[in-house]
Amino acid sequence: MYTVYRDDQTSLAPLGERQIAVIGFGNQGSAQSLNMRDSGLNVIIGNRDDEYRPRAAAAGFEVVEIAEAAQRGDVVLLLIPDEVQREVYLEQIAPYLAPGNCLDLAHGYNLHYGFIEPAPEVDVVMVAPRMIGRGVRELFVQGRGASAYCAVHQDATGKAHDTMLAIAKAIGATRAGAIVTTVALETEIDHFLEQATWPGIFRVLVGSFEVLVEAGFPPEIVALELWGCKEASEILAAMADDGLYKQMLLHSQTSQYGTMTRAPMVIEPELKERFRQRLREIQTGVFAREWEMERLLGYPVFSKLRAECFAHPLNAAEEKMRELGV
Ligand code: NDP
Repeated sequence: MYTVYRDDQTSLAPLGERQIAVIGFGNQGSAQSLNMRDSGLNVIIGNRDDEYRPRAAAAGFEVVEIAEAAQRGDVVLLLIPDEVQREVYLEQIAPYLAPGNCLDLAHGYNLHYGFIEPAPEVDVVMVAPRMIGRGVRELFVQGRGASAYCAVHQDATGKAHDTMLAIAKAIGATRAGAIVTTVALETEIDHFLEQATWPGIFRVLVGSFEVLVEAGFPPEIVALELWGCKEASEILAAMADDGLYKQMLLHSQTSQYGTMTRAPMVIEPELKERFRQRLREIQTGVFAREWEMERLLGYPVFSKLRAECFAHPLNAAEEKMRELGV
């Protein structure tokens, strides 16, 4: 289902003198283009005349219109938000991709659900870092790298695999490990975390906040205890280093007993069935169609829910928590 490629198994040669065109200079676009340039590649940026264009110019890149970048690029990295990629691709990129060119995306969403369907004579690959853009750059500068899921979506030239690994190497991903897999795996795992795991964690934290505040505890102390004191982030780091369960040994025995006995009472047995429902929605494309409809309607539900989140009393509690300076 996957193979891990390291730095010494890969080469930049498939990119050679080819012109790299990075569309977008945001989180991933800025990090990946800087890393590629430091890897000795020839990089131009395609950005509309907007907020990020001057940043790319200030970083010393030649910045041109998106369509011109697509026309000049042999390898085109589409690194703008997923929900606008289809429109930008259809209008400003697809008409200019030549046979043998390579299109690279940093997330499988638009490929997996068929929102972007490049012509058959174009290579299509995915190099999706498991890291925010800032981290992709910082790790690279330190001589390290952020791992990435990589996949060949369409191999028109017979060389797409090597081009994909060369992109992974150029952005530093092979230093940590390029996990070559499928677009489906990357998209579905990513969406499962966004639509099942993290919503669960958010509800647990918000539910804990609401119950403790209802019971009379000071909101700012509750916010501090739950996430503000950063013990939670230490626990997550210990899970990565020591193991999900093994890090329990860092806590008191009282804590371990409470966690192990109460976990099933708090969440099970509905959790797994609800998680399976979320996975079905992801795999059948129900979520993708819903999100596309939301975009077409001007994001009414998204805007309403986000406004509700930022109006929740825990935001005021956080302000007060910060004033405590603890
Ligand atoms: P950003 O939100 O940082 O992208 C901003 C860039 O997109 C800017 O250059 C902006 O230009 C441009 N842009 C925004 N809207 C439009 C538009 N309508 N037309 C043309 N250009 C536009 O994106 P990310 O870097 O977060 O995401 C890029 C890709 O990387 C996505 O596929 C994402 O899933 C993937 N990814 C992101 C990660 C992350 O940590 N953020 C992690 C791994 C993968 P301007 O505003 O100047 O017009």
